[in-house]
Amino acid sequence: MSLSSHSPLRQLIFPSGLLVIAALCSLAIAPPLAQTLVEPAEIMCAALLAVAAMLAVRLRSLRVFLGLISLGASLAALTLMEIPAALHPFCTVLIAIDFAFLLLVDDAFFDWLAVAWWSGLLFVQWAVFLAAVRWDASFFHSELANRINLEVFSFGIVELMFVSAGLALLGRFLFAADAVGSGLLWGLLALAPGVRGSHTSVACIALSGIVLALAAIERSHWIAYHDELTGLPGRRAFNEALAALGENYAIAIVDVDHFKKFNDTFGHETGDQVLRKVAAQLAHVGGGGRAFRCGGEEFAIVFAESDLDNAFDHAEDVRLNIEEDGFIARGPARSQRKRPDRRERPKRAMHQRAVVTSVTVSIGIAEADDRSQPEDVVEAADKALYRAKHNGRNRVERALTPPPRAPKRAPARNELPVIR
Ligand code: GH3
Ligand code: MG
Ligand code: MG
Repeated sequence: MSLSSHSPLRQLIFPSGLLVIAALCSLAIAPPLAQTLVEPAEIMCAALLAVAAMLAVRLRSLRVFLGLISLGASLAALTLMEIPAALHPFCTVLIAIDFAFLLLVDDAFFDWLAVAWWSGLLFVQWAVFLAAVRWDASFFHSELANRINLEVFSFGIVELMFVSAGLALLGRFLFAADAVGSGLLWGLLALAPGVRGSHTSVACIALSGIVLALAAIERSHWIAYHDELTGLPGRRAFNEALAALGENYAIAIVDVDHFKKFNDTFGHETGDQVLRKVAAQLAHVGGGGRAFRCGGEEFAIVFAESDLDNAFDHAEDVRLNIEEDGFIARGPARSQRKRPDRRERPKRAMHQRAVVTSVTVSIGIAEADDRSQPEDVVEAADKALYRAKHNGRNRVERALTPPPRAPKRAPARNELPVIR
């Protein structure tokens, strides 16, 4: 039986079967270890980190997985090595340093080689720390005692390093907010009590592990509902927004003009930049409008509480902003990255030098009447968009007629057609 992603054997053993078998095997092989060395709280914490790690692998979040390995390494060190309780704050600081280093990790791809590297680095980190503690524990004790006393509070090297790691995580989050960045920040904060004492360390590690697992879930949710290229909500979010609409609303369908030419002239990468630029403008549409990327170079704006006139004005503003926002196309020389989904084009045909150009969009807009369904309004906006293209592009057109009305009820099965 194969172990391909949909095979019954794989579905039977992964992940719960694997977890139970591993737990039972470890109890069978090393019952004394479980009973004498490890407290129940530590076993629970280890199990929690294991579950969180499986989740991170399934959700393909490399940063969360590496963060959990750091927590696991620290738990193992606290549990199995004889580190004096007074020096436990240093263990917390080592995790904080790991979390800060995770800022350098690209979360776009899950890479087992990166996992191997990280595990190796953690091994070295803890080996050096444990060796140093064995060699000269008094150095760490004196560092702990060496504190700067201010009127309200005092701090030492441990607090300084912990806060520096926190500020690095906060800075990165403010620069580029994402679910894992937030998870690492809160995961670090969950460890804060460990900086001052030892008794909370295991509970703090467990809490931090839960926070990281939640971050992996949030990241997956974001990926499911958003478009990766532009960061706008995607087709699934659009369909849900349509289903949640009330009675008075307007929908605009936006399409980039002559977009194929951008791709053909400057290359696909430049085409992607155009899409990002247009999306950034659409994201700031006024009038309570919410922008979505529906697919390709087509976007939608849902004005959940607007009538046609109001929505039209805001759509017109967005169109103008996009037109006025000049675009410098640098041609394919910027990226020669080959992608299997991209067709090779002869380079001679493409611009190699920077060219200032402008991007324009055409917009079709329609509003609901009290009996139309959202799909009818989208269809009417689509037709208006077609007219905008036909009338010269770079313009907003309203739907001419109210969208077709949905049938009030489906005919009953036994209802015969009336023949006159
Ligand atoms: P019109 O003004 O009539 O809308 O012309 P157009 O060239 O914009 O329209 P058309 O529908 O012919 O071209 C759409 C192109 O968009 C074709 C497709 O290769 C390209 N495209 C779709 N998705 C993406 C994407 O994610 N990135 C890039 N770079 N191109 C994309
Ligand atoms: Mg199109
Ligand atoms: Mg187009």
